[in-house]
Amino acid sequence: MTGFRNRVVTQTGTVNPDYTPATRLVLGDAFAGGAEGRWLITFEGVTKRYPDGTVAVDDLDLEVPDGKTMVLVGPSGCGKTTTLRMINRLVEASEGRILLNGDDIRAQNPAKLRRGIGYVIQQTGLFPHRTIEDNIATVPVLNGWRRAKARARARELLTTVGLDPALAKRYPHQLSGGQQQRVGVARALAADPPVLLMDEPFSAVDPVVRGQLQEQLIALHHPHGTLAQLATPERLLAAPADDYVAGFVGFDRGIRRLSFFRTDGLSLSAGPVLPETATVAAAVKTGEPWILVVASESDPTPSGWLPSDRLAGLDGAALLKDVAADPFGHTFTVGDDSLRAALDAAVLSPAGLAIGVDADGRVAGLATFDQLRSAVQAAQAAQDALDAQENQDALAAQPGSGPGAAP
Ligand code: ADP
Ligand code: MG
Repeated sequence: MTGFRNRVVTQTGTVNPDYTPATRLVLGDAFAGGAEGRWLITFEGVTKRYPDGTVAVDDLDLEVPDGKTMVLVGPSGCGKTTTLRMINRLVEASEGRILLNGDDIRAQNPAKLRRGIGYVIQQTGLFPHRTIEDNIATVPVLNGWRRAKARARARELLTTVGLDPALAKRYPHQLSGGQQQRVGVARALAADPPVLLMDEPFSAVDPVVRGQLQEQLIALHHPHGTLAQLATPERLLAAPADDYVAGFVGFDRGIRRLSFFRTDGLSLSAGPVLPETATVAAAVKTGEPWILVVASESDPTPSGWLPSDRLAGLDGAALLKDVAADPFGHTFTVGDDSLRAALDAAVLSPAGLAIGVDADGRVAGLATFDQLRSAVQAAQAAQDALDAQENQDALAAQPGSGPGAAP
């Protein structure tokens, strides 16, 4: 994907549209490394009270770092949209200050302010009488790009948001709601503003994730508009600040956290792996309950799992390729895939062994549950140590609040 210059992308999470009680706001973000980069957007004690008395956002302190994507996650009515719209002043804060690059946004002309802030909403706001490519090319053309170049860029962006460039000549009404939403995102990316706000831009696109979030939200009743936790996704899963956040991120957060750990450090076993040209006798001789059969010695791509009891009574000279094997299920790519993928492969394997493959799909080794457990424990310990160090560094960087400072 081509590199966008957008410095900050703030995006709200998908929520259950039928769930009304306003509750607390969970913020997840992605500032790995965190220390470098200025804070591009700063909320200082920001409260929004609507004229009818509704407190949509309550005393929010929040720093959105430069060059990162921050995601606001929380149930319907918790104040995500209000928070976003205060940044481009479609909604004015009642109390507190919002700084953009250190400047109070109230001192700026709203129209000028908004030119530097892309805003994608669920109701895409596409121009109905312009083709998809011309919708996307709108801002580049305004900025003086030749139409041909702007359209070529538009087609690139269609691919970026997962749409077929063949849709370029259609009109918005000829696309599904989800496709229109993606075009809205492509249009905002084409403008390439330093700050991009996206308010549930894919709410019509990803029903699986939406469903998962909705289930987690049911039966939660909490006060409105409060920031519950600000952390990286890995930290939200590893150490939710309280029961509310723990409930929000879900009961399987331990498993989900494994997505952040790679399989580089996982030790693998060599066997039992035999080529299709090996004999039944050779397979029996391994004494293993399951044999992984691969195409050949030189091309060890998996063919299937063979249970040893299926070999009983067969001619020892027969070849493994003539014995029906079970499907090998799915593999994980060593190094590239996460420990979660490896664990999933082991759980789904009839042999209880995860098949690790290289980039070409060739068997690199097998992982037992014991090996997976050791890798999980090592990765968690390493991550916890890193987090502890970062916390210490962050504290030390704050004047007057280093170790030993008075609380
Ligand atoms: P979210 O985007 O998280 O669903 P919103 O920011 O849209 O939440 O709304 C936060 C709260 O503010 C809700 O209780 C909502 O009903 C209320 N609210 C939003 N807009 C207005 C308005 N214009 N007047 C009064 N209350 C509003
Ligand atoms: Mg909203």
